[in-house]
Amino acid sequence: MAGTLRGIADLAIEGRRTFLRVDFNVPVASGKVTDPSRVLASLPTIRHAMERGAKLVLASHAGRPKGKPSPQFSLEPVGQLLAELLHCEVLLTDDCISDAAGKIVTDLRDGQVALLENLRFNPGEEKNDVAFARELAKLCDVYVNDAFGAAHRAHASVSALPQLIRERGVGFLMEREIAALERLRSSTVHPFVAVLGGAKVSDKIGVLEALIDRVDALLIGGAMANTFLAAQGLSMGKSLVEQDKLPLARSLMQRAAGRGVKLLLPTDLLVADSLDASAGRVVTTNLVPDAMMALDIGPRTVETFRHEILPAKALFWNGPLGLFERAPFAEGTFGVARAGADCAGFTVVGGGDSVAAVNQAGLASRYDHVSTGGGASLEFLEGRPMPGIEAVKS
Ligand code: ADP
Ligand code: MG
Repeated sequence: MAGTLRGIADLAIEGRRTFLRVDFNVPVASGKVTDPSRVLASLPTIRHAMERGAKLVLASHAGRPKGKPSPQFSLEPVGQLLAELLHCEVLLTDDCISDAAGKIVTDLRDGQVALLENLRFNPGEEKNDVAFARELAKLCDVYVNDAFGAAHRAHASVSALPQLIRERGVGFLMEREIAALERLRSSTVHPFVAVLGGAKVSDKIGVLEALIDRVDALLIGGAMANTFLAAQGLSMGKSLVEQDKLPLARSLMQRAAGRGVKLLLPTDLLVADSLDASAGRVVTTNLVPDAMMALDIGPRTVETFRHEILPAKALFWNGPLGLFERAPFAEGTFGVARAGADCAGFTVVGGGDSVAAVNQAGLASRYDHVSTGGGASLEFLEGRPMPGIEAVKS
């Protein structure tokens, strides 16, 4: 991956139209942003650009409006929140490439902020369409990407656009994400421990394969563990199991054994008869009743995982260990969240739901890095070149 990555501090943004690609893909309910984390994470770069007198043009995608305008996915609630946070006016355009948007951007004074309406209201965004990128390019002199959560997608505002702009680089959030994840990816300290959970093995194949060659211990929980347990011949009752991934699970277990990697699966589980059960029952892993499903790791597994996590010199965690959205099945995830918080090594958590769990537990500040990227952090760790990083290199 040749080329150098410049940070916003080294770009000539004073008095120039600076297109800042941010990740404002935040949950909204009744016209209000319900989790402002991603907006807050963008503030240092935004404030820096304003203080240096850039004419700031913010742009983001939100939700899946499928290439046409849809009020439900408007960035208006984000614009309001941003105006409150920055104590200044944020000019929301009606569409990202309309004449009106062009006029708003042309009229910006130094230090003023415009927010383009949802990029995905235009079909060109997700198609990485060059004609659409050329329209966006008319709005900018300098391009800055600070949307780590979108850096793994070859979309127009992330890939085609920066290649049309000479003066380009990344914001502070992107710099922090890259530094932390690169430190982990190239980590040579031991023990290096990874905890993987979440819904599906199929979502995480790449990262499983990449990590198994690098870590000393791989702790697997969540619904993902069900597939590994089933691959060992255990009966998992009504639990979520990906039948077509059993051979993959077997080959991963063999690979781990061959390399001396400790691959730990749950030894006890919390089972219930349905997803909305009001409580679970602890069973050992080989005794899951036919009519029950595993919805969390059990207390003995939490203890075993904690014992592996505490001495880690490097820790990566992705994916909840159970159905943590429901209180009766959250203890496994919170137990691992606490273990990670208590670990003195270099600790990183990534993934939308895992990060939500760490925030809910009030433990985010006790991790070295909480990644704002779900899929992006996984792809980075796999070592795949990311379109949004490659395209801004000079
Ligand atoms: P992340 O967003 O952190 O990458 P995923 O999206 O892969 O995590 O998985 C999170 C989802 O997996 C959560 O909705 C959680 O409820 C679900 N989950 C975890 N374990 C189980 C389980 N045993 N049974 C059902 N769902 C589970
Ligand atoms: Mg998720």
